[in-house]
Amino acid sequence: MRFSGLRVLKEGLTGNKGWRPHWRDPEPKPEYDIVIIGGGGHGLSTAYYLARDHGLKNIAVLERGYIGGGNIGRNTTIVRANYFLQGNSEFYSHSLKLWEGLEEDLNYNVMHSQRGIINLFHSDGQRDAAARRGNMMISQGDDAILLGREDLRKMVPYLNFDDLRFPLYGGLYHPRGGTARHDAVAWGYARGADQRGVDLIQNCEVTGIDIENGQVKGVQTVRGPIRAKKVAMVAAGRSSQVAAMAGMRLPIESHILQAFVTEGLKPVIDNVITFGMGHFYISQSDKGGLVFGGDLDFYASYAARGNLPTVEHVMEAGMALMPMIGKAKVLRSWGGIMDMSPDGSPIIDKTHIDGLYVNCGWNYGGFKAVPGSGSVFAHLIATGNYHPASTRHRLDRFRTGRSIIDEEGKGSQHNLH
Ligand SMILES: Cc1cc2nc3c(=O)[nH]c(=O)nc-3n(C[C@H](O)[C@H](O)[C@H](O)COP(=O)(O)OP(=O)(O)OC[C@H]3O[C@@H](n4cnc5c(N)ncnc54)[C@H](O)[C@@H]3O)c2cc1C
Repeated sequence: MRFSGLRVLKEGLTGNKGWRPHWRDPEPKPEYDIVIIGGGGHGLSTAYYLARDHGLKNIAVLERGYIGGGNIGRNTTIVRANYFLQGNSEFYSHSLKLWEGLEEDLNYNVMHSQRGIINLFHSDGQRDAAARRGNMMISQGDDAILLGREDLRKMVPYLNFDDLRFPLYGGLYHPRGGTARHDAVAWGYARGADQRGVDLIQNCEVTGIDIENGQVKGVQTVRGPIRAKKVAMVAAGRSSQVAAMAGMRLPIESHILQAFVTEGLKPVIDNVITFGMGHFYISQSDKGGLVFGGDLDFYASYAARGNLPTVEHVMEAGMALMPMIGKAKVLRSWGGIMDMSPDGSPIIDKTHIDGLYVNCGWNYGGFKAVPGSGSVFAHLIATGNYHPASTRHRLDRFRTGRSIIDEEGKGSQHNLH
């Protein structure tokens, strides 16, 4: 089933009776070539690119809940390629290019909107850092424009230019950055993988990983054992729990990040705006809701909900930056479990166990990485070689201390923001 304007017209005229489920609901087979643990954005995109780019079909994605129920359906949907360090810079650039062709590739409207992102800065020192970051982005082939205070005032006149605790000096503008509809991304990849023969098995929690003589043999699940030649762990916030099933202790802490959405308003915020000093960022969804969030809740947890001190902090920061939003009513808030790595950068690697692969450490930023992560991880699983866009996301960097990609500079304590 392909989507097209003609198809929408035809279905509209014939009572919408021709639409079919986007993917099958197969029973698990006793054996697959590749089993992927986790049906989030990264697990689904990995399965999709394994099938599309490497012609592999005998693959299962095992999801403990339902497709789209994890962070892939809980994030604030920002897509960007504005990283500073080599390792991340080329990876996120690769991912953004895939985003730009994603809707045609998947034949699915993921509502990718390149409305531009503005990162605010508030001092001469921060302006210098923004200029350096912008130069790195341009060197990588991406786009960046340094905005002064008056440029900023023209673009976003509703910000508090008069008495903000951190005065507005300007912003780093990334025009190709933007947003997308998060659950549509999950559904689009799920449908694409299913069409290529991948079995998506929901309500199938993995409870154990079978290993014999240093070689992975399969997994234990709540729906019985499944043998597999290769197993990929792509469980985001629950990566440490899944890796523990293979006797591994990952350098990952799971923390809560909250998000908030207001009632629908007329279009007022054209771009994504980030206010790092206040721990606040905001955009407006296509439905009109203001979508915003802040920083972590600062305690390790597996609860997909946050606590009131962070709610209060985020609201205060939002009101300080743009007092006008005080009139909007918040309709919903929720939390997601973030897989925080010590250097703020992901892990996409083989493990010491033959046939067992790991993909995690996405911190706050794994949504924009979904296409890139799937494509490079599929390359690694299928060929055994690192994709050129991801040669540095190695697990052993935390053991050896070599090639740390210190994008965040906070070390392993995520409360040191
Ligand atoms: C509030 C919030 C805002 C965010 N904002 C942004 C943003 O603006 N931009 C951005 O780039 N990123 C953002 N992120 C981060 C991004 O959402 C995540 O990094 C990314 O979604 C994680 O990868 P995933 O989609 O594969 O995770 P998930 O969707 O969580 O997928 C992991 C899956 O593994 C499954 N699983 C776990 N254990 C098992 C098991 N034992 N057996 C079977 N299945 C299992 C889970 O049920 C889950 O479905 C945000 C996150 C949150 C919470």
